Amino acid sequence: MSLTEHRPAFGKARGGSAAIAVVAAALVFAVMAASGVLSPGYAVVGFVVVAAAALLGARGGGDTIGAVLPPVPAARADAPLQALLAGLADPVIALGRDGRVIAFNEPARALAPALRQGEPVSLVLRMPELSEAVTRTFAEAAPQRFQYSERVPLDRWFEAVAAPVGHGSNGKADMVLLSFRDLTPLRRVEEMRADFVANASHELRTPLAALLGFIETLQGRARDDAKAREKFLAIMQVQARRMARLIDDLLSLSRIELNAHRRPDGAVDLVPIVRQVVDGLQTLARDRGVTVDVEASGSLWVLGDRDELVRVLENLVENALKYGATGKRVDVAAAPGPVSPDGQAEAQVRVRDYGPGIAPEHLPRLTERFYRVNVRESRDQGGTGLGLALVKHILARHRGRLTIESAAGAGATFIMHVPIAEPPKAK
Ligand code: ADP
Repeated sequence: MSLTEHRPAFGKARGGSAAIAVVAAALVFAVMAASGVLSPGYAVVGFVVVAAAALLGARGGGDTIGAVLPPVPAARADAPLQALLAGLADPVIALGRDGRVIAFNEPARALAPALRQGEPVSLVLRMPELSEAVTRTFAEAAPQRFQYSERVPLDRWFEAVAAPVGHGSNGKADMVLLSFRDLTPLRRVEEMRADFVANASHELRTPLAALLGFIETLQGRARDDAKAREKFLAIMQVQARRMARLIDDLLSLSRIELNAHRRPDGAVDLVPIVRQVVDGLQTLARDRGVTVDVEASGSLWVLGDRDELVRVLENLVENALKYGATGKRVDVAAAPGPVSPDGQAEAQVRVRDYGPGIAPEHLPRLTERFYRVNVRESRDQGGTGLGLALVKHILARHRGRLTIESAAGAGATFIMHVPIAEPPKAK
């Protein structure tokens, strides 16, 4: 009885199950009476009671979730149903017409650890949308889709689908399969994309507004003022360059993201790259009054894209010169490092400055796009806020990483880690 009550999809119709129960009861009582275990009178009374219960049960409702439920033992799911659910990657719960759980899979258990077979699902997943959707699915025998969110312990968003399965004698579904899809990662990506577009537009709009302002001034008040024209044109050039740099960084970022899954496979020696980058930044170092010391000898081979590794080191050394200039000194050292946490032999390039350093609360966010400790300072230095995001993406593509050691007032060390590779074989 309780079996048909909770898993009607796997019996025939309710009426059919009841008829089988009546026939079985008749047989059992007949045998008991014939063998003398029960007197014929008791056998007839027993049969009538069981048959009446079976027929009443067959006519009983259960179409509405949350209907008054008799205390029945937990329904047992069929092995095939259990196996079917176990093979699904998304959380799935099978519900009977009475809203009780017939079966569920491991992902569903992870989603709602309090789920129990035979208990009303509404005790565990307490959303009105769910009760409504399940009731409607049984009533209309058509799938219902709804979304809901959880606030505790974390913000999470889900889409759930209630799908009818099987046909009861009354043409309604016997069972509902509730499946869930976690929309949280999608939502986060959407939010990040929206933030990114807003940030990028804002970054471009600021120099553009300055350019438009100066153009108007040059067309109007300053039209015949040669001195003002010189001054404004110089500012306009700085702003236009800033826009060009920003667009360049944005394009690089999207190109690197497109290739993120393709690991570069050319052998590259980091030592000459370090020297080339430091040589290229000597003018900036002189302008800032900083001496750059390089410690790199022999060779240090990695699998990499030369231009991208140049870009990483340029960003790190340039940042040290821009933000750490007060320390008057920058050390760049390339050498094999200790084995990484996952057992990989690594090449390391350390860029150390003796400037103001970075407070610990900023460290985890430095590689986020457009994150700056001090927006004003970054803009004054011609920064786009994308340099360290680029560094992080390039290193990830090289199966490497960036670590930062710093404390406020104690300078900063940015360390690039890339797996060491065999030197190329001489041809
Ligand atoms: P930006 O274009 O602003 O330089 P980055 O992504 O290269 O963008 O750097 C992000 C922020 O990290 C910088 O704005 C700065 O606040 C901080 N930063 C980077 N390098 C250093 C450093 N060597 N010393 C102190 N702060 C740094």
